[in-house]
Amino acid sequence: MTDNAATGAWPSGPRGEPDQYQKIYLSPPDVGDLERKLLIEAFDSNWVAPVGPDLNAFEAQVADLVGVRHAVALASGTAALHLALIAAGVRRGDTVLVPSFTFVASANAVMYLGARPVFLDSTPETWNVDPALVAEELRNRAIRGQLPRAVIAVDMYGQCADYDLLLTACDRYGVALIEDAAEALGASYRGRAAGSFGLAGVLSFNGNKIITTGGGGMLVTDDGQVATQTRHLATQAREPLPHYEHRSVGYNYRLSNLLAAVGRGQLQRLDDLIAARRETNRYYRAALGDLPGLEFMPIADYGSPNWWLTCVLVDADTFGAGRDEILAALSRRNIEARPAWKPMHLQPLFSDCVMRGGAVSVDVFRRGVCLPSGSALTDDDRRRVVETVRAVSR
Ligand SMILES: *Cc1c(COP(=O)(O)O)cnc(C)c1O
Repeated sequence: MTDNAATGAWPSGPRGEPDQYQKIYLSPPDVGDLERKLLIEAFDSNWVAPVGPDLNAFEAQVADLVGVRHAVALASGTAALHLALIAAGVRRGDTVLVPSFTFVASANAVMYLGARPVFLDSTPETWNVDPALVAEELRNRAIRGQLPRAVIAVDMYGQCADYDLLLTACDRYGVALIEDAAEALGASYRGRAAGSFGLAGVLSFNGNKIITTGGGGMLVTDDGQVATQTRHLATQAREPLPHYEHRSVGYNYRLSNLLAAVGRGQLQRLDDLIAARRETNRYYRAALGDLPGLEFMPIADYGSPNWWLTCVLVDADTFGAGRDEILAALSRRNIEARPAWKPMHLQPLFSDCVMRGGAVSVDVFRRGVCLPSGSALTDDDRRRVVETVRAVSR
């Protein structure tokens, strides 16, 4: 991952200035001997298919970790979102409440079903969807007889949304809650694991997430029917008959057994991967926390995040440089950083969708910077990031 030639990163800094440093990525995969060993064992066992003992073991281990009865390993978190929405009964013409401040996958899954997302703003306390807005929107829609079919909550940057408030609101109107915990495996809310809230939780094992299978996801749920239906739809909705019999539209969404082997290795290391990211967060806070005009993403006292990404808000006037100047300075030193998600209601794709509120998500987008947070960051890497950010503040 750090081989510049292989990744197309610059062999030297831009403008020809020498740069002996290798590229620092935002959140690269962190895999090693354990994952390699398990992958090769799976390969040698000839379970080179989307079924097999590693897949079953990976599902059982994730279900155990999340504290739910069922887990279905899928090709991506997006596939898990798609099938979770089907489980919630989302159909053409329905509406689904979605936080505007999220990765596009949360809203794309709604579009796959011909339903419409209605976007809601975040709360400044956690950057997660504002539960008061969810409650208000449900109340107003109940009066009009236009309740949404589902609400998606996202655990942003590895911190859980406020599920007591969200579940109370959803339960009152009988609306299904889907937890998009793609970024949050290993986080918890009031002692309960991320992924365990609502009808179904969604996990991602994409290359940049807290654990990776090189691409993959999972639907986790306590509901046996949801799990059975999801497994069925993910394997082309094949009926349990010797000939090929089909009653509904299915998908080819299962995770490969080979990739599940990598996931098993990653899962064994999850505590260490979280600890490394927590240490990075602690390091950045200690080394940058004194700078005026720089605030870290707030952490609520209701849970513990998995520290997936460390993000800051920059006030250009007090800090002496804005978001884009910081990003440019980092880029000049071969460091990958990113703006916070661009809210969905500002995306051309969703220009005709309804949005409630917006000041928080727009502000976080305009002023937010996600700093390199990978679990394999070295002290030298962290120091280089900190020096670069400090240098533009003066
Ligand atoms: C990564 C991510 C997804 C999608 O997961 P994939 O495995 O990449 O399909 C969905 N929602 C959020 C919030 C994510 O960050």
